[in-house]
Amino acid sequence: MDRKKYLVVGAGFSGAVIARKLAENGKNVLVIDKRSHIAGNCYTKRDANTNVMVHKYGPHIFNTNNKEVWEYVNSYGKLKPFKNKVIANTEKGVFSMPMNLLTINQFFKTKLKPSEVESFLKQKQKKKENPKDFEEQALAFLGEELYYNFFYGYTKKQWGCEPKELPASILKRLPIRFNYDDNYYNSKYQGIPENGYTEIIENILKHKNITIELGIVYNKSDNKSYEHVFYTGAIDSYLDYKFGRLGYRTVFFKEEIHDGDFQGNAVINYCEEDIPFTRVHEHKHFAPWENHEKTIVLTEFSKETVDKDEPYYPKRLKPDIAKLNSYVTYAESLEENVSFVGRLATYRYLDMEKVIKEALDYATYFLENKKENTIF
Ligand code: UDP
Repeated sequence: MDRKKYLVVGAGFSGAVIARKLAENGKNVLVIDKRSHIAGNCYTKRDANTNVMVHKYGPHIFNTNNKEVWEYVNSYGKLKPFKNKVIANTEKGVFSMPMNLLTINQFFKTKLKPSEVESFLKQKQKKKENPKDFEEQALAFLGEELYYNFFYGYTKKQWGCEPKELPASILKRLPIRFNYDDNYYNSKYQGIPENGYTEIIENILKHKNITIELGIVYNKSDNKSYEHVFYTGAIDSYLDYKFGRLGYRTVFFKEEIHDGDFQGNAVINYCEEDIPFTRVHEHKHFAPWENHEKTIVLTEFSKETVDKDEPYYPKRLKPDIAKLNSYVTYAESLEENVSFVGRLATYRYLDMEKVIKEALDYATYFLENKKENTIF
């Protein structure tokens, strides 16, 4: 047993996976989190009124093509199969999301077959060589009618800027299908933990070499007391916003309790610009294997992150990337015993599966190479 302590800052997936790997290799690990709970933004808790499992920071649907990652999460808790089928509420009516043949046929009042969609859309598309932003990418794929009905208003609300300021990569997250498959994800493995994500992360952290302390604000002057520190918080915060704040969107929710079934689906997106919220989540539909008479409904609003707001979506606009580069260069020059790992520390939009894979890989790499002061 290695008596020297390793510190992991943040008890979300990144921190938990790293802590576990270190602990299994005989290291003594302290995991701290400023929040009063583990599991970061994946935190789930049964609602006291309805007994529905609520994903407190917004719904998370686990999806991956990676067998190793799938087996890893399943070894810490049972995931039940779940397919996310989103409904989009638009000015022109209610449609299936992600965009599929049903969406296109209902929207244009056509009866296209899979083999006919491509040439149909070609007449609509505003083709551009190498579309360079979200709007150009959407117009090149879908043309104006679909773009303005489904994407323009929603994206403006969600990101708080014109879609042409955003990278094309955000749109590429969403599949567009020429068949009637309305599953939101393409991944081979998809599911939701039967007893919530908190239980999974609790089980990852359950190891004799791991100590957890919650409600603790990290102070980097403590670094010297540890052999190494794995920091999973925001990189700009670590460096005291020395180069200014990195742009983030945050979300907040309005909660309501109703009887019966409120909206008939787990998620309904609201694509119109003048409706102030982006989507409505009815959490009992994320656990269709359970029965509940009452229902808890969370309406999601999006806004710019200020002060102590939780950072959710990294905007990654051009000025942000310039600032990020300054942070990375500066952090690398510090030669401190700290590694920056995960979604916030690397300022990237990462799905849970990526977070787990990177944390597993990084912990393995660290244990083998003992490389210090790394921006992963
Ligand atoms: N989007 C949209 N309309 C929708 C759904 C998504 O305009 O009905 C855009 C929006 O810009 C969003 C992006 O597509 O940020 C990616 O969607 P995704 O569902 O992956 O976002 P997330 O669920 O991660 O917030």
